[in-house]
Amino acid sequence: MSGKIRCAFCGQDETQVEKMVAGGRKSLLLQRAYMCGDCVTAAYDIIKGPEPPTAAPSAVAAGREIRAA
Ligand SMILES: [Zn+2]
Repeated sequence: MSGKIRCAFCGQDETQVEKMVAGGRKSLLLQRAYMCGDCVTAAYDIIKGPEPPTAAPSAVAAGREIRAA
């Protein structure tokens, strides 16, 4: 086959990273997408990190409720 698996985000191949996560749906037209451990960590930080000032109104409201209590 075509050889190395590459991270779809940063382009590193499987020999350059510690871990590679497979994702995406199986399709005749689309190859599976892969994400390396570095990008997984970066994505996790974005998802779990502090919310930006432009957070959704519902999240802001929830924060105010806790602070008021
Ligand atoms: Zn990557």
